[in-house]
Amino acid sequence: MAASSRSLSYVVPAVPHSCGTRLRWAMAPPAFVPLATAAGACALHGVGVRGQARHQCQLPGRLSFAAPAGVPRPARRPTAAAAATPRMAVASSSDAPAAASDSSAAGGVTLDRVVCKFGGSSLANAERLREVTKLVKMQLDASAKPPIVVLSAMGPSTNELLSAGDRALTEGVVDMTSIRNRAYEACEELGLSTEDLVDPLLLNLDQLLLGVKFIKELSPRTMDYLVSFGERLSVRIFAAHLRQNEGLPARAVDAFDAGFRSNSTFTNAELCDVTEAQVASFFATSMPADAVAIVTGFIAKDEDGNITTLGRGGSDLTASTIGAALGVTEVQVWKDVDGILSTDPRIVKAAVPVPSVMFEEAAEMAYFGAKVLHPIAMMPAMRANIPVRVKNSYNPSHPGTVIVRDRAVEADNPVTAISVKRGVQLVDIVSTRMLGAYGFLAEVFKLFATHRVSVDMIATSEVSVSLTLEAAKQDSRVMDALAADLRQVARVSFSSDHAIVSLVANVKRSSDVLARSMHVLNEAGIEVQMISQGASKYNISMIVADAKATRAIELIHKAFFGV
Ligand code: ADP
Ligand code: ASP
Ligand code: MG
Repeated sequence: MAASSRSLSYVVPAVPHSCGTRLRWAMAPPAFVPLATAAGACALHGVGVRGQARHQCQLPGRLSFAAPAGVPRPARRPTAAAAATPRMAVASSSDAPAAASDSSAAGGVTLDRVVCKFGGSSLANAERLREVTKLVKMQLDASAKPPIVVLSAMGPSTNELLSAGDRALTEGVVDMTSIRNRAYEACEELGLSTEDLVDPLLLNLDQLLLGVKFIKELSPRTMDYLVSFGERLSVRIFAAHLRQNEGLPARAVDAFDAGFRSNSTFTNAELCDVTEAQVASFFATSMPADAVAIVTGFIAKDEDGNITTLGRGGSDLTASTIGAALGVTEVQVWKDVDGILSTDPRIVKAAVPVPSVMFEEAAEMAYFGAKVLHPIAMMPAMRANIPVRVKNSYNPSHPGTVIVRDRAVEADNPVTAISVKRGVQLVDIVSTRMLGAYGFLAEVFKLFATHRVSVDMIATSEVSVSLTLEAAKQDSRVMDALAADLRQVARVSFSSDHAIVSLVANVKRSSDVLARSMHVLNEAGIEVQMISQGASKYNISMIVADAKATRAIELIHKAFFGV
């Protein structure tokens, strides 16, 4: 069916889809059902259709939509230039956010508003900043309101800041060359003067490192102040570039000035409930409607005005918090991979992108070691039911992964993704006669609570319990005290060097998942020391020796994904 002269043409990444779906105007109709992953761009021809449309699919090339008689032309027509550019697919879930539906109800093809977050790898240098500029401009064109852009520190700046602090403390050396050079090189290549832009911050940083050197102290509070320079530098440079080189009304915003409040758990602070209301009020009252806010990810301030950080990778949480506060159409997190992959690509090079996952599945993955998302980053978006799209800034036409409340269809593959958490400690606790089965578990868990030690996985029998702890997080004095208390009621043994291999899987098909996993592990002589399944609907986890974890992942990945 050819596109009629009344039809509108614009380009979206190839959206996995099937015929027979109902269409609503959004850049990718929300009801599309993922069938397979398709890369590249496909053209979508049509006119604004709300409700049903007869259409023909010619995958992987293009989609054509016939315009039923009398359907009005969408309000906003993409320009020829925009039509030639690969665009973001949006809200391809059955759970399309209200804002997307509203814009379609109004007959427009635009999104209402999005948050775009760019991680360090997307911002490594001036060239990457120029690429990110294209993505921001594309979003400006696609949305009714300007996007809110959240930035991480450029490239490895956070690690460099931490090692600069460490050197000042342990060697008495103040060396911020790499941080200064990255900022200066970016400014120079983008034709920006460093004078008012980055020099004041670099001077503060120098003073801070001198302080660390002479006072010989680097507390978690100081560490947070130290790493905050990374994000504060990147938003200033990028906003200045958008203003000066692109003529856009961009404003650099430190998140704490936009309402981000946290507790004082330095290096891993929790956002206070008041944050979302404050952020909403900031954007309503202190930011002009046409301004493009470039906001620091990762940082907040506590009640006393100290800068805090939200844990490594915390910019994802900043983005999702702003998205929830403003009720945006979607939150985009731009990284250097084609979305959430079936496993860590550093373990299995051929890992495949997962088109769509549910919030709970993404959270399970992050919690069980997938380094792609911050474990609690999804929570605000999940509460507000805002889709989060993980995209690749190096390959923007790829649809990436959309994280939504409900998946439209159950996937054929019972396993969605595999992750690994290393450095796990296993604790075996067997009841002594002093305490019978009755009350045993209560007593054991009371002791873990008293000593504030959190547990990952548990397997129990009537008189024994095995559980896992994250070794890196345990303070040895706390563990000694806990062990002494446990030994009052049980025989206890600790062993280290384990790993949790975690499958985000359809637990309703657990027999299949376990049978296939155990088969390949057994053939390779890899012992499974403990299994946990069922506490969550999405997770099946097994403990193996740390040294065997990589092989275990390779084998299970091959069993379920064929590569
Ligand atoms: P950014 O800092 O740009 O937000 P991150 O570096 O935090 O991005 O996350 C992306 C990286 O996460 C990828 O480069 C990849 O190496 C790693 N990673 C680990 N597990 C996965 C996975 N399952 N899917 C995608 N990426 C993963
Ligand atoms: N820059 C911080 C980090 O490297 C936060 C982030 O990137 O999300 O962890
Ligand atoms: Mg990150």
